[in-house]
Amino acid sequence: MIKTSEIISWHTPQWQQIAQFLGQDRFPHALLFEGIKGVGKRHFAFQLAQMLLCQGEPTESGICQSCSSCEWFLSGTHPDFVVLEPDEGKKLISVDSIRQNSQKVFKTSHQNGYRVLILEPADAMTIEAANSLLKTLEEPPPSTLLILLTDKPARLLPTIRSRASRLKFTLPKAEQAITWLKGQGHDLETAERMLALSLGAPMRLQGDAEDINQVLLESKQWWKDWKAMLSRQMNPVTVAKECAKAEPSLFLNWLETLFRALIENAAQAENSPKLSSVANYEVLFPGINQLIQQFSLPSLFRMRDNVVELSQRQQSSLNWGLQLEAFACDCYAST
Ligand SMILES: [Zn+2]
Repeated sequence: MIKTSEIISWHTPQWQQIAQFLGQDRFPHALLFEGIKGVGKRHFAFQLAQMLLCQGEPTESGICQSCSSCEWFLSGTHPDFVVLEPDEGKKLISVDSIRQNSQKVFKTSHQNGYRVLILEPADAMTIEAANSLLKTLEEPPPSTLLILLTDKPARLLPTIRSRASRLKFTLPKAEQAITWLKGQGHDLETAERMLALSLGAPMRLQGDAEDINQVLLESKQWWKDWKAMLSRQMNPVTVAKECAKAEPSLFLNWLETLFRALIENAAQAENSPKLSSVANYEVLFPGINQLIQQFSLPSLFRMRDNVVELSQRQQSSLNWGLQLEAFACDCYAST
């Protein structure tokens, strides 16, 4: 098994489940990792794959990091390990892709050991692709492992879900997440702001330290503008124009966080059943409490749904600026 010091603290229950599988001597052929984006499913899948592929002397850590198998793995060239994702610029995983890759991994083992295929996101498979995968799952070759990763398990075929052993990944406690972020080299203030912007899932924000600092910096300006707009001190068209300059997915992530924070605050003020808070949003949106009397909870829920819709449309549309403007005007009109 993996050394405790190498395990991400909130993954301990999942590693215990893996230890149990190994102890039963009947390791599943397919695992389904469920959990929202950013809780570390991919990280876990890679650690598990490397552990199974490692051919070094059994050590305490389960991964030697120095055998040829580990070297290939770390350089991304292991012949018995494939990560299958949608093709560049596409959203779906096609049947051809499933056929080619499952042949490649499952037909021959180069090292006479495990063969591992990771599929992410598993819900991106077309129906034909899923049916083709089912055939592999019905008669799995020995020493093979398929790891399916998804944050939308309901979109998978029930027949696939029922053939895989499920591991559920949940949000870490805020202290665990902050400790982890600090371990990645961020100071406390940055870690707290990152966690808020990640909706409690610390690996949700992608990019290097420079990108992240840039987002945190830009988000200060976004908040200044949106706060002014929602207080009717700034015109929504101007605000939308400014925000349309940002990278859309980063801005949408921020917007989703803003509405989550407004909903949590408003629910608290209305004495509705308290939503469990996953992060301290005040660090990202100072003074947010003063805004909430302007909104009713239902209108906030409606706007949050509109953000989700905006995210979905943004990927398929060219007039992003206009859509953002329409959304900002709607929010302005709801105050
Ligand atoms: Zn090794």
